[in-house]
Amino acid sequence: MEIFKEFVFESAHRLPHVPEGHKCGRLHGHSFRAAIYIAGEVDPHTGWIRDFSEIKAIFKPIYEQLDHNYLNDIPGLENPTSENLAKWIWQQLKPVLPELSRVRIHETCTSGCEYHGE
Ligand SMILES: [Zn+2]
Repeated sequence: MEIFKEFVFESAHRLPHVPEGHKCGRLHGHSFRAAIYIAGEVDPHTGWIRDFSEIKAIFKPIYEQLDHNYLNDIPGLENPTSENLAKWIWQQLKPVLPELSRVRIHETCTSGCEYHGE
Protein backbone atom coordinates (compact mmCIF):
# COMPACT_ATOMS: atom_id res chain seq x y z
CA MET A 1 0.00 0.00 0.00
CA GLU A 2 1.15 3.52 -0.72
CA ILE A 3 -0.25 6.73 0.70
CA PHE A 4 0.65 10.28 -0.24
CA LYS A 5 0.42 13.77 1.14
CA GLU A 6 0.50 16.81 -1.12
CA PHE A 7 2.05 20.17 -0.40
CA VAL A 8 1.88 23.38 -2.42
CA PHE A 9 4.63 25.95 -2.22
CA GLU A 10 5.38 29.12 -4.13
CA SER A 11 8.97 29.46 -5.24
CA ALA A 12 11.07 31.42 -7.66
CA HIS A 13 13.81 29.90 -9.79
CA ARG A 14 15.73 30.13 -12.99
CA LEU A 15 17.49 27.35 -14.85
CA PRO A 16 21.13 28.27 -15.45
CA HIS A 17 21.99 25.58 -18.02
CA VAL A 18 19.26 26.10 -20.63
CA PRO A 19 20.21 27.45 -24.07
CA GLU A 20 20.51 31.21 -24.55
CA GLY A 21 17.06 32.79 -24.90
CA HIS A 22 15.17 29.83 -23.35
CA LYS A 23 12.28 31.14 -21.23
CA CYS A 24 13.31 29.00 -18.24
CA GLY A 25 16.59 30.90 -18.04
CA ARG A 26 14.71 33.98 -16.88
CA LEU A 27 13.73 34.50 -13.25
CA HIS A 28 10.16 33.26 -12.75
CA GLY A 29 7.99 31.48 -10.22
CA HIS A 30 5.76 28.43 -9.91
CA SER A 31 3.11 27.13 -7.58
CA PHE A 32 4.93 23.85 -7.14
CA ARG A 33 3.04 20.80 -5.91
CA ALA A 34 4.96 18.05 -4.17
CA ALA A 35 3.44 14.70 -3.27
CA ILE A 36 5.29 12.68 -0.67
CA TYR A 37 4.56 8.94 -0.88
CA ILE A 38 5.24 6.33 1.74
CA ALA A 39 4.82 2.58 1.35
CA GLY A 40 4.15 -0.05 3.95
CA GLU A 41 1.74 -2.46 5.54
CA VAL A 42 -1.58 -1.19 6.78
CA ASP A 43 -1.71 -1.55 10.56
CA PRO A 44 -4.66 -3.88 11.26
CA HIS A 45 -5.71 -1.87 14.30
CA THR A 46 -5.36 1.74 13.09
CA GLY A 47 -6.27 0.90 9.48
CA TRP A 48 -3.54 3.14 8.11
CA ILE A 49 0.16 3.07 7.26
CA ARG A 50 0.94 6.29 9.06
CA ASP A 51 -0.90 9.36 10.25
CA PHE A 52 -0.93 12.03 7.49
CA SER A 53 -0.28 14.67 10.13
CA GLU A 54 3.04 12.99 10.95
CA ILE A 55 4.10 13.31 7.31
CA LYS A 56 3.10 16.96 7.41
CA ALA A 57 5.17 17.55 10.56
CA ILE A 58 8.21 15.77 9.12
CA PHE A 59 7.99 17.72 5.85
CA LYS A 60 7.53 21.10 7.57
CA PRO A 61 11.23 22.12 7.85
CA ILE A 62 11.74 21.26 4.17
CA TYR A 63 8.58 23.14 3.18
CA GLU A 64 9.81 26.21 5.03
CA GLN A 65 13.08 26.17 3.11
CA LEU A 66 11.21 26.06 -0.21
CA ASP A 67 8.12 28.23 0.22
CA HIS A 68 8.48 31.86 -0.87
CA ASN A 69 12.17 31.39 -1.51
CA TYR A 70 14.53 31.54 -4.45
CA LEU A 71 15.39 27.89 -5.03
CA ASN A 72 18.74 28.62 -6.71
CA ASP A 73 20.05 29.97 -3.37
CA ILE A 74 19.48 26.65 -1.56
CA PRO A 75 22.62 24.47 -1.35
CA GLY A 76 22.11 21.54 -3.72
CA LEU A 77 19.47 23.34 -5.78
CA GLU A 78 21.70 25.58 -7.86
CA ASN A 79 20.06 24.06 -10.95
CA PRO A 80 16.49 23.70 -9.66
CA THR A 81 14.77 21.59 -12.29
CA SER A 82 11.81 19.50 -11.14
CA GLU A 83 14.04 16.43 -11.37
CA ASN A 84 16.70 17.95 -9.12
CA LEU A 85 14.07 19.23 -6.72
CA ALA A 86 12.54 15.74 -6.42
CA LYS A 87 15.98 14.24 -5.70
CA TRP A 88 16.82 17.00 -3.21
CA ILE A 89 13.56 16.46 -1.30
CA TRP A 90 14.23 12.70 -1.32
CA GLN A 91 17.71 13.22 0.14
CA GLN A 92 16.35 15.44 2.92
CA LEU A 93 13.41 13.18 3.75
CA LYS A 94 14.67 9.61 3.43
CA PRO A 95 16.81 9.69 6.63
CA VAL A 96 13.84 10.90 8.72
CA LEU A 97 11.09 9.07 6.80
CA PRO A 98 12.50 5.63 5.89
CA GLU A 99 9.16 4.47 4.42
CA LEU A 100 9.47 7.16 1.72
CA SER A 101 8.77 5.47 -1.63
CA ARG A 102 8.27 8.29 -4.13
CA VAL A 103 8.48 12.05 -4.52
CA ARG A 104 6.26 13.60 -7.21
CA ILE A 105 6.74 17.19 -8.29
CA HIS A 106 4.29 19.20 -10.37
CA GLU A 107 5.95 22.31 -11.70
CA THR A 108 2.86 23.32 -13.66
CA CYS A 109 -0.60 21.75 -14.00
CA THR A 110 0.65 19.57 -16.85
CA SER A 111 4.38 19.05 -16.23
CA GLY A 112 6.27 17.28 -13.50
CA CYS A 113 8.30 14.26 -12.50
CA GLU A 114 8.43 11.35 -10.12
CA TYR A 115 11.47 10.06 -8.29
CA HIS A 116 11.60 6.61 -6.73
CA GLY A 117 15.08 6.78 -5.22
CA GLU A 118 18.40 5.37 -6.38
ZN1 LIG B 1 10.35 27.12 -14.05
